[in-house]
Amino acid sequence: MAELLIKNALVLTFDENALTGGMIADGAVAIEGNRIADIGDSAELAAKYPGVKTIDAAGRIVMPGFIVTHTHMPYVLGHNMPVDFSQLHSFWDMLQKMGWEWLEDITTQEGVYAATRYAATKLLKSGTTTVCEFVEGPNALPGILGATAKAIEETGIRAQVGFEVTERIPGAHILEKTSVAYADRGFEENIRFFEQYPSGNGGRITGRLGLHTAFTNSRETMKKAREIADRYHVGIQTHIAEIPRVFVVEKHGMSAPQILEETGVLGPDVVAAHCIDLTDEDVAILARNRVNVAHTPMTNSFGGNGVARIPYMVEQGMNITLGHDCFFTLDISEYLRYAFLLHKAHNANAGLFPIFQVLDWALGNAARALGMDGEIGSLKVGKKADIIILNPDSPSPIAPCSALSYFDMTFQGRHVETVIVDGEIVIQDGHSTKVNEDEVKKACQEEAKILWRKTGVQI
Ligand SMILES: [Zn+2]
Repeated sequence: MAELLIKNALVLTFDENALTGGMIADGAVAIEGNRIADIGDSAELAAKYPGVKTIDAAGRIVMPGFIVTHTHMPYVLGHNMPVDFSQLHSFWDMLQKMGWEWLEDITTQEGVYAATRYAATKLLKSGTTTVCEFVEGPNALPGILGATAKAIEETGIRAQVGFEVTERIPGAHILEKTSVAYADRGFEENIRFFEQYPSGNGGRITGRLGLHTAFTNSRETMKKAREIADRYHVGIQTHIAEIPRVFVVEKHGMSAPQILEETGVLGPDVVAAHCIDLTDEDVAILARNRVNVAHTPMTNSFGGNGVARIPYMVEQGMNITLGHDCFFTLDISEYLRYAFLLHKAHNANAGLFPIFQVLDWALGNAARALGMDGEIGSLKVGKKADIIILNPDSPSPIAPCSALSYFDMTFQGRHVETVIVDGEIVIQDGHSTKVNEDEVKKACQEEAKILWRKTGVQI
């Protein structure tokens, strides 16, 4: 018997892809436990489930929650940090100073907990219900994933989580010195987490091994990553070709896709963020291994890394999804719109990409990349009840004929009114039902202050 009915809504099921996905003009969705029990016409479902708790969603859009396939939630501690850009002369400076010295290497478990609670709440409030979280912070081991999981559990978001395995030594230059012992500490952190949240546990939190990059790891560590991922039946998340290809070729004598294929890392259970500096042959390797791409266009623009060849990868049949590093606001609408516009401008082709395709990157494609397409990514009877209700702010009517255009033109995260994850209402009237948002923000600001002071900022 259904326990919650959402009715009178424009229901977008996205049940195949965003173009052919069903739209029900006066639709309803019934939820039982943590699953979708029924979808159909409002009047029919209201008659079928009398007396059930009901949300009247008249004038609203009801759709599946968005899925972001690459996040680093603790990065919110670096939001608005007064960075001295005069110290950054190259990509290496960006990575070494901004990414590592000023953020990851001074991250603490208290900081991770506070930042993750803040980020997860913000993500939920703007419509993201699932993230693939790649935790970094070599000086906050062991236990950093425990701090992450605690925050995720408290906020109500769904997540796959892993810690970065890297041979990088904090404080040393990556091109001069690395250590396998550091990678082993990363493996241990991941393994502890996989044992605590075993694969197929049916809960909101599961594991996904984090392999930092090919250029920060040896062949042996890459092989070990695949062995451990297989042993615990988890996928792998990694960064591929974010940096110029030549650096990986100098280190390993081959490109990142080549060495990752040779060491057995690649496969359909791999989510690869960035994927920028790739040759046709590199793309062919990723495509034949059915690797999933977490396209992160906004961070790549910020870092001056270039624009990933997404149109070419789509032609090669690759599964494209949307990631965002949590580097900017956590509002999914910004990332959707940026991805929607970037390739048109970059390729001088307004046909790249239609909005339904970009939406798919954060819905069906993303669910498939995480191995969860049987559970999330669309509204379908039997799937997990991860649902958002939007109250569109639009100068024109939002109807089945205009609903998709809404997402490229006027959709904003603040239109999200209600968010349901695993059948539980976690955002109501735009606010968390799980945490005290003021307290969460204050705690995050305090941790940001502590982190900033370590970088020399006087505050
Ligand atoms: Zn990343």
